[in-house]
Amino acid sequence: MNGTTPAATAPAPGGANATAPATAGAGGGSDRIRSVTLSSVVLPLPTAISDAKVLTGRQQPMTEVVLLFAEVRSEQGLEGIGFSYSKRAGGPAQYAHAKEVAELLIGEDPSAIPRLYERLLWAGASVGRSGLATQALAALDVALWDMKAKRASLPLAGLLGAHRDSVRTYNTSGGFLNAPLEEVRENAARSLEAGIGGIKIKVGHPDSSVDRARVSAVRETIGPDTPLMVDANQQWDRTTALRMGRWLEQFDLIWIEEPVDAYDVEGHRRLTETLDTPIATGEMLSSVAEHVRLIDARACDIIQPDAPRVGGITQFLRLATLADHAGLQLAPHFAMEIHLHLAAAYPREPWVEHFDWLDPLFEERLQTEGGRMLVPDRPGLGITLSERCRALTRESVTLGR
Ligand SMILES: [Mg+2]
Repeated sequence: MNGTTPAATAPAPGGANATAPATAGAGGGSDRIRSVTLSSVVLPLPTAISDAKVLTGRQQPMTEVVLLFAEVRSEQGLEGIGFSYSKRAGGPAQYAHAKEVAELLIGEDPSAIPRLYERLLWAGASVGRSGLATQALAALDVALWDMKAKRASLPLAGLLGAHRDSVRTYNTSGGFLNAPLEEVRENAARSLEAGIGGIKIKVGHPDSSVDRARVSAVRETIGPDTPLMVDANQQWDRTTALRMGRWLEQFDLIWIEEPVDAYDVEGHRRLTETLDTPIATGEMLSSVAEHVRLIDARACDIIQPDAPRVGGITQFLRLATLADHAGLQLAPHFAMEIHLHLAAAYPREPWVEHFDWLDPLFEERLQTEGGRMLVPDRPGLGITLSERCRALTRESVTLGR
């Protein structure tokens, strides 16, 4: 079943039993959503970033991240903050769609998150239940979860039921292909000094001798016992992925990420079956339904969902339950400010990806220590938008009052 599909008994929108505004009988609390502020924020990156998709000519170097922020306020004075994001394209469309549907939340019980999610989903049903449409809803969904945890005076991880108060973490931002090898080695050393436990570097260079040299050098720099991962960003074909995968076995990697096209379930499955090194994938998928294909096929060892990309925390939790049931490991993609909490609540020991790109947007900093990222004890996600975030806001609108 498509994870975003309303229950089989759900009627068509507008039908006799269509989702109605909250009433006390719907199980709602006494609080109501008073206003929603949506903001489109353009965050420039310090340097232009290239992974294998740029080296193979499929994309241009990335120079900025566009974020959609949602700030939801309630009659009782609570505020929830959520965000979604896009890279290279799609930011204005996410903002536009959120602006079209967010009004539906005004006057609703903010704790009735799955019901509100369906309401938003039906409003945009003709543009689908994946991709841009649900990524626009993700910012709202995350904000509602943030508010719910704040109402309970718990960190989001605590509200969800945390299995741990810290999560193993690895650095990605230091290992891009635009960085010369020497810089990658320095970045790795700096990350380890900062208490980050693992190092991931990008591979998938069209000249595989470049990959071979960089992986060998980084393994030598960090030593045999430091967790090391590689990420080919979908740029190998099945044959190259198998050849490189076999060569990489000697490095005792924690995983090989996106060795082949994100939608090549069979290609991923064969590698998972053939190689000893675990296969990780899933960051490019934009719905629960797409993840279900991977999970059902046992096409990876480690699943890498991204809450903003799959439509928010509500959807993430659905697929995480399925992934755990299938025995998969979890290593969510990007957005550590959200995923730290979700990973802490996953039954199997997960990884969280350390990416400091979004740091300028928030007042707080996540702490790393002994190879792990510590779940903050602040209520909700534990984030406050910074002055810099306000200064980088290109557009903003407040619905409600
Ligand atoms: Mg990746």
